[in-house]
Amino acid sequence: MSLVVQKFGGTSVADSHKIMAAARKAIRAQQQGHQVVMVVSAMGKQTDLLVELAQQIHVRPPAREMDVLLSTGEQVSAALMAMAIDSLGHKAVSLTGTQIGIHTDSTHTKARIRSINTDRMQQLLNQGNILIAAGFQGVDEDADITTLGRGGSDTTAVALAAVLCADACEIYTDVDGVYTTDPRIVPEARRVSRVSYDEMLELASLGAGVMHSRSIEFAKKYDVQIHVRSSLTDTPGTLITDLPESNSHVVCGAAVTLDEARVSLLRVADVPGTSWEVFSRLAERKVAVDMIVQNVGEQGLTDLSFTVPCAELESTLDAMREVRDVVAAHQVSHDDQVSKVSVVGLGMVRRTGVAETMFRALTEVGINIQMITTSEIKISALVARSEAKAALRAVHQAFELGDEPAPKLPQEGRGEQLATADVADVLSRLRGVDMEELFLDEITLDQQQARVTMNGVPDSPGVAAEIFEEIAAAGVLVDMIVQSYHEMPGKSSLSLTVPQPQLESCLQIVGALSQELGCQSITHCPHVAKLSVSGVGLRSHTSVAIRMFRALSEADINVEMINTSEVRVNIVVAGELGTRALQSLQDVFADALR
Ligand code: ADP
Ligand code: ASP
Ligand code: MG
Repeated sequence: MSLVVQKFGGTSVADSHKIMAAARKAIRAQQQGHQVVMVVSAMGKQTDLLVELAQQIHVRPPAREMDVLLSTGEQVSAALMAMAIDSLGHKAVSLTGTQIGIHTDSTHTKARIRSINTDRMQQLLNQGNILIAAGFQGVDEDADITTLGRGGSDTTAVALAAVLCADACEIYTDVDGVYTTDPRIVPEARRVSRVSYDEMLELASLGAGVMHSRSIEFAKKYDVQIHVRSSLTDTPGTLITDLPESNSHVVCGAAVTLDEARVSLLRVADVPGTSWEVFSRLAERKVAVDMIVQNVGEQGLTDLSFTVPCAELESTLDAMREVRDVVAAHQVSHDDQVSKVSVVGLGMVRRTGVAETMFRALTEVGINIQMITTSEIKISALVARSEAKAALRAVHQAFELGDEPAPKLPQEGRGEQLATADVADVLSRLRGVDMEELFLDEITLDQQQARVTMNGVPDSPGVAAEIFEEIAAAGVLVDMIVQSYHEMPGKSSLSLTVPQPQLESCLQIVGALSQELGCQSITHCPHVAKLSVSGVGLRSHTSVAIRMFRALSEADINVEMINTSEVRVNIVVAGELGTRALQSLQDVFADALR
């Protein structure tokens, strides 16, 4: 018998009328011949209210107690939903995460799912019940309640769909699908008919709050096709699947993380091990770091900057106080008034000019870029928070994201249903592993690149656009771009990698520009090695950073450039160290490479 998972978010269960409407949807699905599992969020803004209440009582409420508190919101919705279905004359049973047996680790408020027991659910479904799971919660080894992190009911839904080999996983929410960007900020945003797992993973982790990013990790790992749709209308919604919407759009969407904070360690020793000391302390605290940017060192010193969500700033600064003396940093600075604007698209790998378009768009509205990082699938720029929404609009317009793409890919893609062979494959992948365990595809080494660094670049609107437009005009293919925060007011430094045969022409252009712009100096390295680790959820698995930096530090290898994304981490080291770096990464990730 076919099985559907239907998840209803907070606004979709905000009052008794909405609960009744959701109950009817589930009953309709059952009447159409499906077994139905519902996953419900807390009603309306209930989770926010509980968080506020906790903060009125305690500045830093114990995480264990937060979980006991927050899990009640979903429990209320689940019980009410079961009552609603019962009142309509159908059988329903609500279950908490503990009752189901959603086993997690013990990282309170951010727990990861290890395994899910399906026995009780199967039994209740076979007895003709609609099953209602309280979202976003689980239980750890000590039988303590855990929660999966804000927005985590999506993850419950996709994880249940995976273990139950569901035929469909429908996410009902207050928008009628995934848009090219948050339609509340940019009204011209367009609903996309389909988005690929990798793109959605990046968009979600870069601020597209419509889906919890970890739910997409599950979807990709266990082949769950997700259907995001409105709980109020019958519009077709968006499929999240293994294919992108179109191969004509280079960029599929834009996102903003409004509440971001920049932290910089100034003048730290530019030696192997510095990054490990810094990021291992953050990873221990499960802080997911983004936009890691390091100036290419001068006189043995470097500046290291990165961004974290504002909510994690306090614990990040605690970690920095701990590490400051260890890495002999002269100063730790931070700015909690910044936002990160990003564009995402699988098509970027194939196309040049994406970075220039983004920088030009920001220049035209007079917005200064404080930091830049790029990878094969995303570009992020850090801007002042007061300018973030304008930046998002400008970027959305520059990439013409509001327009329908053409030509479209064929719509059939993967079948709705998992074939029997696929089911067996998924089940075998589930056996004996933690469901959310790290999962890597490959580690590669590219020895064909050179690095160019411009120091003391004026930090004002338009400079990045000018530099990259000139480089592109000369036909030089820039791969990685990293623009870092500079302690000297009004200056930044910019590093990029280019193919070795194009180094000379790049140096000529950059040399001329450097004089024109009044930069301090240019350095370069004719042969660097770029190592790429690709997989799923690399940024949210904070252990990736720990293991990677430890391996390189133990091998005495200094990291010159780095960029991180959910699906790929790239690092650049001196060319002659490439093979050794590859070996140490392969060793340290041997267990995660499937
Ligand atoms: P739920 O309570 O149903 O889980 P959320 O509030 O978590 O709903 O997610 C839906 C909201 O996500 C929308 O109202 C919208 O403002 C926001 N959002 C952000 N980015 C996007 C996007 N790219 N597409 C659609 N919605 C988005
Ligand atoms: N209620 C939780 C939250 O608001 C989980 C969820 O809705 O997904 O974050
Ligand atoms: Mg949500």
